[in-house]
Amino acid sequence: MRKWTRAVMAAAVLAAILSFNAARFDSRQIDVPRNDEAVPDAEAAVQRLAQAVRFQTLSHQDPAKFPRSEFEGFHAFLARSFPRMQSALRRERINGYSLIYQWSGTDASLKPILVMAHQDVVPVDPASADKWLQPPFGGVVAGGFIWGRGTLDDKGAVMALHEAVEALLAQGFRPKRTLYFAFGHDEEIGGRQGSAKVAEWLSAQGIRLESVLDEGQVVTEGIVPGFDKPVALIGIAEKGYLSLELVVEAEGGHSSMPPPHTAVGILGAAIARLEDSQFAATICDPVRSQFAFLGPEQGWLRRVLFSNLWLFAPLVKWQMAKAPSTNAMLRTTIAPTMLEGSVKENVLPMRARGVVNLRLLPGMSSDEAIRRVIAIVADARVRIAATGSSRSEPSPVSGTDSDAFRKLHRAVKATFQDAIVAPSLVLGATDTRHFIAISDNLFRFLPARLRSEDLKRYHGVNERIGIDNYREFVRFYMRYLREAAS
Ligand SMILES: [Zn+2]
Repeated sequence: MRKWTRAVMAAAVLAAILSFNAARFDSRQIDVPRNDEAVPDAEAAVQRLAQAVRFQTLSHQDPAKFPRSEFEGFHAFLARSFPRMQSALRRERINGYSLIYQWSGTDASLKPILVMAHQDVVPVDPASADKWLQPPFGGVVAGGFIWGRGTLDDKGAVMALHEAVEALLAQGFRPKRTLYFAFGHDEEIGGRQGSAKVAEWLSAQGIRLESVLDEGQVVTEGIVPGFDKPVALIGIAEKGYLSLELVVEAEGGHSSMPPPHTAVGILGAAIARLEDSQFAATICDPVRSQFAFLGPEQGWLRRVLFSNLWLFAPLVKWQMAKAPSTNAMLRTTIAPTMLEGSVKENVLPMRARGVVNLRLLPGMSSDEAIRRVIAIVADARVRIAATGSSRSEPSPVSGTDSDAFRKLHRAVKATFQDAIVAPSLVLGATDTRHFIAISDNLFRFLPARLRSEDLKRYHGVNERIGIDNYREFVRFYMRYLREAAS
């Protein structure tokens, strides 16, 4: 009897704690007046983005294929399309093809901000070229959309930023804080010749930035579970990137007299062990922060869950691990991507080679990940080493209590009044990682409204942006620049 009473009391205390935490789970959304910026000549702006698409500013892995004249043409087009910006802002070419503009503020004591977008685009896969409803570099405006490679990634932002600056200049706007705009030319192959050099150029002048805004997250529609409303995600951290090569060497010979395990067999077993031994799941800081913004906007059950992670973390992790997109928010992922073996069907391989691509959760260094992979493979015959040139550590996590975050939050909310705003972890890599040394506030947000079927347009076929959404791009940047420049 006494035991039973104690159990009831314990349950009552637990229920009280859970409810208390859920009730205290205050909304982090802010109320701001609607963004009423006017895009001066919206129709012309749409046509200019369409024209921008026609410059095939492609990034190829092979530097010999760099399309110099396309970039030169694009720069000349920008210069003649935005005359105010050309004359009022200082403009530098960095390493030939990246551009940086400086709009000097009236108060030199304030740290400048940087807004970025990249000029380069990924090539179109010839195998899928016939699936495009409009030619990928045609710059066609049809059916309420601007079509073509780069409209989302990332010429939409390059052009909208130019439109925003031009419009603000026309209104006589003077920023208090200095604004920089940087347009890299090789983001799609790692940004080492473009944004990395822009960061070096700023750093060499002793400049520390108040904040950086780049692409990375978007306004999601119907993507975040549990929300009918759009959710505008702001990336406050990004995962690291590491490719590992696994090599097994063996004696060759005729496949009619094989040993028990060939080099391919040994490599295959190693890769299978990696797939079967996932890294541990952790609710890292940016994801915790996302829950703090999303939780209060949800029903009672989810509020109780997200406000009591001390108790429900295992349940939340179990749920998130079910889908690749949420699983990737929880852990360092391993994806086997490449395999090579023998050159002929009846020849034993003398060398088998595989590549696994890892995305590192904030908090896990690439060295630590390599040690873990070696321990999981646990086979001295498999040589494991980092490969490729894109290795990057996970980024630091930018705070959400800063003025810099609040200004961005305000601009997003003002433009997308129907959306819930939340910080998040970016699963891919962006050019912001080159600025880690010169700013504490790195944000990744593109004002694109995307549904889940739109995600595959990135680097895929039928990349396009809605005309109405593109107007929101320009209005968003106008508002953000006003906020951030204050
Ligand atoms: Zn991009």
